[in-house]
Amino acid sequence: MNKNKMHIGIDFGGTKIEGVVLKCDFENAENIDDFVVYKERIDTQARYGYDHLVKRLSDFIRHILQKMKLEPDNCTVGIGLPGSIIRRTGCVKNSNTTCLNNKPFWTDVQKQLLLPIVFENDANCFSLAEAVWGAGKSYSIIFGVILGTGVGGGIVLNKRILPGLQNIAGEWGHAILIPDSRPCYCGKKGCVETYLSGSAFQKYELAENGINLTSHQFSKNWDSNKYNGNPAAQQAVDHYCKYFGMAVSNVINILDPDAIILGGGMSNASFIYKKGWEYVKEYVFNDELLTPIKKATLGDSAGVFGAALLGAASS
Ligand SMILES: [Zn+2]
Repeated sequence: MNKNKMHIGIDFGGTKIEGVVLKCDFENAENIDDFVVYKERIDTQARYGYDHLVKRLSDFIRHILQKMKLEPDNCTVGIGLPGSIIRRTGCVKNSNTTCLNNKPFWTDVQKQLLLPIVFENDANCFSLAEAVWGAGKSYSIIFGVILGTGVGGGIVLNKRILPGLQNIAGEWGHAILIPDSRPCYCGKKGCVETYLSGSAFQKYELAENGINLTSHQFSKNWDSNKYNGNPAAQQAVDHYCKYFGMAVSNVINILDPDAIILGGGMSNASFIYKKGWEYVKEYVFNDELLTPIKKATLGDSAGVFGAALLGAASS
């Protein structure tokens, strides 16, 4: 790693693009926030299609370079994006920002900027940052999970992402949980994402139990004990936690990680760490459950920090 460079990290999401610039030597930081010298967030505007996204991201990076007076030889750029890169073709696959799929997004952005860029799956970036600085920093094998609008996962072994043969290691969100059930954007039915995302909780558990709130609003009400003795709310939570237990115990049975770190909107729901944990314990193939299931500590910025770290590691 080059100690004199600044490191740009970008979290390219379906609705927001976040960018940070980190001072050199940040990988040894005790508190990563002390190393942030620039931070900005813009709308993704995914509705305008692929060409617009290439321009939007390239212009945003160019703007950061100019604002921070950075040149290609004194900075690195790492980008976390939804989906993965097909090694054979360089095109994106498995992205819920569907206009990116089967497009050479990486190459097209690099062509615009004429500087080397590292791309990685956003859940992998999140997992890496949490493994290095966050809730997973004292563990060797981490399974990081984003329970947000979608569901993503990443595996980090000794502070390095495990990409897998096809760049899909940790893509647990599209493992089938209940066959032939809820439709998923990926074309399959019954994916983990259709049971554990915030949008799934709102659509299937809350709305179907007559609770017309967002997942976030419900979770706040739940924590302030507004639903004590409310059967509909209890049922919504019980269903969600049961699916969580099934899905997470499957991962533990295969990987048996040292810790599972949860990020994304649903990771703020306290019932996951109580009732959800009990269901994991019930379903796991063991007579006890030692696996810590922890909430991420880097907040919304884990993705950009992980992306910056990948860029830095490549220099
Ligand atoms: Zn799916």
